Amino acid sequence: MKVTDFFTQSPGKTLMSFEILPPLKGGSMSDIFRLLDALMEFKPPFIDVTYHREEYVYTKHESGYYEKTAIRKRPGTVGICAAIMHKYGVEAVPHLICGGFTREDTENALIDLNFLDIKNVLALRGDAMTFEEKFNPTVGGHSYALDLVRQIADMNAGKYLDPNIEKGSKTDFCIGIAGYPEKHFEAPNMDYDLHYTAEKIKAGANYIVTQMYFDNSKFFEYVNRCRAAGITVPIVPGIKPLTRKYQLAAIPRKFYVNMPDELVKEANKATSDAAMVDIGIEWAIAQCKELIKEGVPCIHFYTMGDVKTTSRILKGIL
Ligand code: FAD
Repeated sequence: MKVTDFFTQSPGKTLMSFEILPPLKGGSMSDIFRLLDALMEFKPPFIDVTYHREEYVYTKHESGYYEKTAIRKRPGTVGICAAIMHKYGVEAVPHLICGGFTREDTENALIDLNFLDIKNVLALRGDAMTFEEKFNPTVGGHSYALDLVRQIADMNAGKYLDPNIEKGSKTDFCIGIAGYPEKHFEAPNMDYDLHYTAEKIKAGANYIVTQMYFDNSKFFEYVNRCRAAGITVPIVPGIKPLTRKYQLAAIPRKFYVNMPDELVKEANKATSDAAMVDIGIEWAIAQCKELIKEGVPCIHFYTMGDVKTTSRILKGIL
């Protein structure tokens, strides 16, 4: 079933969805199943699985030369999606990125997803690789998520890259995209960012999931600005609890989001890791309660593999 169908079939209800990461290479699927077994209690209609492109490592040889090798630290997105659907009967939403993919690779990936009966994808650009200053598109690949959305929409219309395929079989993907209540860090301003968000919707995207944020007023303002810009699709807030003090600095640095004063003050009072977790959970529960009151269609939890914290938040709001 499509993500957006869940929303239309549960009017006035706030659903709970989760995002999980594939394990590091060498890790086991049983860790993922343990996490998912615990989350099933909360009846998620769908679960997102992130995609991680390859990274480059440099190995120094005795001669002094450095060898550059590409490694994928977290492969397995598609396999995990198939396992989720098979084992739990829950819809899986694989993330698909532009970085590392040619258009041909993207087409083949979409064909695999379609054959697995996966009905949803979250279409993203991906970030720059660790050694790059800015995102550089793969040769023959897409520069922006907008182009990826267009390619998926083309396949939904039966249009493939090979012009000789005249009446290709139509896929039927529901397309999610990313949204940024505090603006994407590369966009010069919010209007610019929203312009391209609106373009992605026009191209065929069906819903938005937001970047994590810690101040609900930013989310409500974002929704208002989207609506004013003519973006009418469902907007799903992304929630991630603070669980460690160092995240007060690390999260803004990595995700370009602000920490509200009150949360910073509370976090600085924590005298142990356990106290910090309690503060983060309390904050997330308060955020979720307000979002539910405001009637958001779904709350999306960035679990980061932390089932205990996610479960405590869910138990605090349901
Ligand atoms: P885009 O929509 O391409 O936007 C990137 C920037 O370019 C923005 O500033 C935008 O305003 C601007 N822009 C957009 N289109 C155009 C255009 N046509 N011309 C000029 N400027 C344009 N990353 C991963 O690697 N794997 C994941 O699994 C993953 N999951 C994510 C899930 C969510 C919910 C979110 C919010 C992010 C996720 N990311 C993931 C991170 C994401 O890839 C980065 O935030 C990335 O920097 C931007 O992705 P995007 O799809 O928003 O890019």
